[in-house]
Amino acid sequence: MYKKTRQKKAIMDVLKATSSHPTAEWVYDQVKKEIPNISLGTVYRNLKMMNDTGEIKERYFRDGIGRFDARIDNHYHFICELCGKISDINEPGNNNLNSVISEKTGLYINSHSIEFTGLCTECMNTGEM
Ligand SMILES: [Zn+2]
Ligand SMILES: [Zn+2]
Repeated sequence: MYKKTRQKKAIMDVLKATSSHPTAEWVYDQVKKEIPNISLGTVYRNLKMMNDTGEIKERYFRDGIGRFDARIDNHYHFICELCGKISDINEPGNNNLNSVISEKTGLYINSHSIEFTGLCTECMNTGEM
């Protein structure tokens, strides 16, 4: 039991320390530094479980790879078209939009997501466009 708690905590700490929306493999590489004998399967199972319980959120972006986000509130994302970096947009999600679209379409809207795309500041500064 203690082992499981420790694994989960290490995974949570890694996720909370980044805003890069990492894949399970990336999380695994980081957690290994703390728990060298942990397996990718264990990390993956924990991430899935934490998503099921709502502690973290698994999100899919344009590359279709499951990525994990310690932020579970409704927020928007920015994806750099050049380097592919995914970052949070610090603009609160507009939950009102769900009911507006619900009313217009008669659909039951649960959530929505917005992805902004363009160039991140690092890519803009390299000037190699
Ligand atoms: Zn970029
Ligand atoms: Zn996010």
